[in-house]
Amino acid sequence: MTTRAQGSAAAIGLADLPLRPELVGEEPYGAPQLDVPVLLNVNENPYAPSDRVRAEIATAAAEAATVMNRYPDREARALRSRLARYLGHGLTADNIWAANGSNEVMTHLLQAFAGPDRSLLTFGPTYSMYPEYARNTHTRFVVEPRADDFTLDPDRVVAAVTRHQPDVVVVTTPNNPTGTVTGLDTIRTLLDVAPGIVVIDEAYQEFVTPGLPTALELLGDYPRLVVSRTMSKAFAFAGGRLGYLAAAPAIVDACRIVRLPYHLSGITQAVASVALDNAPEMMAHVAELRAARDDLVDWLREQGLPVVPTQANFVLFGAFADRHEVWSQLLADGVLIRETGPAGMLRVSVGTPAEMAAFKAALLRVLANEEMSR
Ligand SMILES: *Cc1c(COP(=O)(O)O)cnc(C)c1O
Repeated sequence: MTTRAQGSAAAIGLADLPLRPELVGEEPYGAPQLDVPVLLNVNENPYAPSDRVRAEIATAAAEAATVMNRYPDREARALRSRLARYLGHGLTADNIWAANGSNEVMTHLLQAFAGPDRSLLTFGPTYSMYPEYARNTHTRFVVEPRADDFTLDPDRVVAAVTRHQPDVVVVTTPNNPTGTVTGLDTIRTLLDVAPGIVVIDEAYQEFVTPGLPTALELLGDYPRLVVSRTMSKAFAFAGGRLGYLAAAPAIVDACRIVRLPYHLSGITQAVASVALDNAPEMMAHVAELRAARDDLVDWLREQGLPVVPTQANFVLFGAFADRHEVWSQLLADGVLIRETGPAGMLRVSVGTPAEMAAFKAALLRVLANEEMSR
């Protein structure tokens, strides 16, 4: 039996509610979560934790459960120390902030340094979540184009910053969805001219060729630099939801002001600490994924498809007259990739050898169909 209240609650639609005007017509994020055999659409590490790490995670969760009646450490000190140790570069817990995914870290940064009458500048095509973080924090979102080959050079960055005088600039390197790396020369120039906070989103940094520099090297020289990282990609911990940043302690203090109290659960802190204590094992397959990425780039080029040079664990390729049709045919074959980025292009994450074989076989069938339809 439904009560009167339940009945009218069911009848009401979003359009009947006094929603903030900028949210009217908006759809929740994002990538389709479909139950298909080959998932190559959200750049996860395809390798699950080992049995040994899994057992340690279970033990840590059970221990955390013994104090579940208490609030967790609001400052997540033990976890932040481990993150600092993992990053190296002389960083300590005071330089680190952590939250439920780097999307929450970015939200903290915008709550602290952007907001009404302030702006966020980025360079597109880039990560599709930035406009949403800006919208949710009432921040004006400004996007300037990258070069035709998706690179960023110092001149372009200076021109954009001079023109917009943004409160926050975000540069993603390697960039999502293109895989493009931005050099430290460009980042240094950006830091020299930017009037506010500069965030370098290094979500995919562990996938770059070993020896390539990271913006962490610049932290000592630039107090308004923030380097954003995540355990969701190379670290094979997307389900654990742990993102973090490295910056001057004052920037961490700003994040501590705006975060919700006890934002990081005791379970999250405990299991992320276990993952960090087992970092080499969690990332045991990264070198293999890097090699698989390079093989995939070569193979796509052999099929005559343009590919954007990439240092991440995904490849942007195309260009198709009807990319949605290609995406749909792959999906019909049990292979889910991502319809994102510039017109006609598709993005595929690097998977296991079996997943790569399935993707290649499915794409060859699509290309054969295309051939016939010409
Ligand atoms: C995947 C990704 C992240 C990570 O998001 P989490 O919230 O930490 O899972 C951050 N930035 C970019 C550019 C990404 O592609």
